[in-house]
Amino acid sequence: GATPCQEPEQQRIGVFLRLRPVPRPSGRVVASPEEGWVEFNVPRDASQGLINNSRESYRFPFDGLLPAEARQDEVFERVAAPVLLSALDGYNGTVFAFGQTGSGKTFTICGGTERYADRGLIPRAISALFAEAARRTDHTYVLHISYMEVYCETGFDLLEPNREVKALEDLPKLFLGDTNRVVAETPLNQASSRSHCIFTLHIEARRVGESVVRRSKLHFVDLAGSERVVKTGLSAHAQLKEAKYINLSLHFLEQVIISLQEGRAHVPYRNSMLTQVLRDSLGGNTRTVMVAAVAPEAAHIEESISTCRFAQRVA
Ligand code: ADP
Ligand code: MG
Repeated sequence: GATPCQEPEQQRIGVFLRLRPVPRPSGRVVASPEEGWVEFNVPRDASQGLINNSRESYRFPFDGLLPAEARQDEVFERVAAPVLLSALDGYNGTVFAFGQTGSGKTFTICGGTERYADRGLIPRAISALFAEAARRTDHTYVLHISYMEVYCETGFDLLEPNREVKALEDLPKLFLGDTNRVVAETPLNQASSRSHCIFTLHIEARRVGESVVRRSKLHFVDLAGSERVVKTGLSAHAQLKEAKYINLSLHFLEQVIISLQEGRAHVPYRNSMLTQVLRDSLGGNTRTVMVAAVAPEAAHIEESISTCRFAQRVA
């Protein structure tokens, strides 16, 4: 008898919700995390037709809740560490941050610049990779990094191509305590929340004494702000163009993820640059997690609900 074809196991996307701390005590918080859920209580005065029905609250399930007090090291352990270990075992992976501008995506992916403890997922992943590679003495590893920005369907390389990282000391200017320096040097800095930033660790592993090289990739994606753009001001035209590209690329990302999950024969990777770049790191034998970043104040409730809905659709 013939052996049945083995379909690669389709892993579903792990979705986490992270609430950003409220900077001033005046900001009224409407989002409350629970075990496995987040709940939004619609303020009574949210009357201007913002939420177009009479519900008093919204609840969304998540694989993990990261409350405003969650520390960066906890976020790394829960969200990225499992994906990183898979990448060392040869599986591609992707960690996304999704949400409106100001919700904490860049703080999650890259980190804050004030304190060492504020290091985000990328610098922590690099440190953890070196530590784990040193522990796995039966293998040797080579690490390359790439960093690109996708703005209005155009890609910008943020590093010299094929940069090789020999030691942690090669990275000080890049992320350790000097977050966003690379981005700050690009002409697109102003637009950085309107572009997707994709940082990739390219891992080559070779078993000691063997010549076969096993390659895997791990992407960290700081997605463009998902908010709807208000059509005002002099820059309305440029803003609408950016917004159109962002909406489309987020829509195509969702389409790709859903096509993979439904096991469709055709997966529309070619519709956007983002999905082309991530092509071999979504679906199939890969691990993907998404952090839905949410600003918990009343003023942002509609965007927060829309962020959670996106996360539910791709989960
Ligand atoms: P986004 O990238 O989604 O636009 P940012 O990551 O830039 O949002 O966050 C907006 C602001 O909130 C920044 O000043 C950032 O440092 C701060 N911030 C976000 N998340 C946290 C957090 N968990 N702890 C402390 N500050 C945070
Ligand atoms: Mg940002």
